[in-house]
Amino acid sequence: MKQEGLLLVLSGPSGAGKGTVCKELLSRNPNLRLSTSVTTRAPRPGEVEAGSYFFRTRDEFMQMREEGEFLEYAEVYGNFYGTPRSFVREQLLSGHDVVLEIDIQGALKVKDRFEDGVFVFIVPPTLEELKRRLKTRGTETEEQVLRRFNAAYEELNFVLRYNYLVINDDVSLAADKIEAILMAERCRVIRNRGLHECLKGVL
Ligand code: 5GP
Repeated sequence: MKQEGLLLVLSGPSGAGKGTVCKELLSRNPNLRLSTSVTTRAPRPGEVEAGSYFFRTRDEFMQMREEGEFLEYAEVYGNFYGTPRSFVREQLLSGHDVVLEIDIQGALKVKDRFEDGVFVFIVPPTLEELKRRLKTRGTETEEQVLRRFNAAYEELNFVLRYNYLVINDDVSLAADKIEAILMAERCRVIRNRGLHECLKGVL
């Protein structure tokens, strides 16, 4: 018998840099798979279908929701985003770790349904830095930046629902910490039931 993969949920306010940390983790870990979400948001310049997202119309998204295709979904800044359930399930069963890079509402929905997940809250080092990151992204208007900043500030309150906190002041260090978290999670007694010859009859 082999250990099932871990479901890693990386979330935190927008501007925390979770996307960058996620890319770093993926480049280091061939066993880690990124779940590609479905969204009703229009593609940004350079975004291609099935790259950052599966782009769908609102009707198509609602149809998928009706058919129970999402592990979770949420409305974020006026657009819908959802995590396809089947991909996550298949990958975990085949022993791959799966990372979800999703917003806080979605992460908390997954937490209610999937206790075994590893929930990591990523925050920027300071509020000033958060504002700077939201601005320099350059893809949003001034009003959108302000909206995201206010939402991000409110969202910091949800940190208590998570298992781990990672301050993202250095991407490589943040990724090191998450790798250490995953390593520790794999060693938890509860995740090792029935896996080891030497503990037959005990675990
Ligand atoms: P963006 O439009 O900037 O790519 O993403 C906006 C927000 O939606 C980010 O916080 C991102 O993490 C979140 N997001 C992306 N995919 C999903 C998803 O499948 N479910 C949820 N709940 N949030 C998502």
